Amino acid sequence: MRELLFLAPGRLRWRERAEPHILAQSDALVRPIAATTCDLDRLIIRGEAPFRGPFAIGHECVAEVVAVGEAVTGFRPGDRVVVNWHISCGSCHHCTTRRPNACLTHQPGAMYGLPGLGDWGGMFSDLLRVVEADVALTPLPAGVDPAIVASAGDNIPFGWEFTIPHLAETPGAEVLVMGGCGSIALYAVMFARAGGAARVEYRDTDRGRLEIAARYGADVVEGPPPRRAGEFPIVVDASADEAALKCALRSVAPEGIVSSVGGHFGDVSMPLFKMYQRGVRFYTGRGRGGPNVAEALEWVAKGLADPAPVVSCIAPFDDAPAVLAEGLTKPVLVRD
Ligand SMILES: [Zn+2]
Ligand SMILES: [Zn+2]
Repeated sequence: MRELLFLAPGRLRWRERAEPHILAQSDALVRPIAATTCDLDRLIIRGEAPFRGPFAIGHECVAEVVAVGEAVTGFRPGDRVVVNWHISCGSCHHCTTRRPNACLTHQPGAMYGLPGLGDWGGMFSDLLRVVEADVALTPLPAGVDPAIVASAGDNIPFGWEFTIPHLAETPGAEVLVMGGCGSIALYAVMFARAGGAARVEYRDTDRGRLEIAARYGADVVEGPPPRRAGEFPIVVDASADEAALKCALRSVAPEGIVSSVGGHFGDVSMPLFKMYQRGVRFYTGRGRGGPNVAEALEWVAKGLADPAPVVSCIAPFDDAPAVLAEGLTKPVLVRD
């Protein structure tokens, strides 16, 4: 079978490797039918993240179940599913309390499609072994196009996680989103608007992303981040930029929350005294993924949120090496 390798910035290629097999009775084998890049993959492909090839890349896909182990009860061959990108056991304290991203059984950070975290395979492949299928898979709702939600295992629920629960806590709050990383910022704008934010301000330097944010109804501001952008109860840093992160931290309302998707690979100094005076809740992390996938997809299935504008292009799966090399925000590779 084929598996896509990231070699070096702007360089990817298919390689042949042995097919994966069901190793535990809780495993499933799936065939990705719509796969895309996470914002982290995009940084890697553009040479803006400290990961060196070669390795099998890809951890966002919608797939078709090909086979299941005897212990899998929730899925059967032919089902269309979203694959959670975290490797999780499903039974430890963190996994049973909606935190598969911090599974206590597997190596910290274990995931598909990155080097040094176990050989779990990448999702730009003909076949993938899914560990603990009953917890790792989420059914794709009927009527939802796999290509539009190829990102539903990671970046889409990440955008949901940073907005909808906080808007439930402070209904109608104004939201600031610092863009730059790629798609998560746009999904955050999408969910913030759908979730009833009184106003969403989106800041970025990329004209294309600014246009998408404007389509979602955000007030967009083009240009480098100012020292402070105002005062918002909910702030999302999806910038991968130190100055933008600092702007985010200075722009949060007292006792508000700043969520950062990361993309900051070195140490960053923070305006901690100002944060202390205001009261700031700061979260950074990889997102919970799995437990939020069904709910994020429900917004899409009900027509309340439409991720289609974020998709950069839809291309044949075979063309992945050339299409991904362009480093687009959300290129989707599909097949029947
Ligand atoms: Zn990711
Ligand atoms: Zn676990």
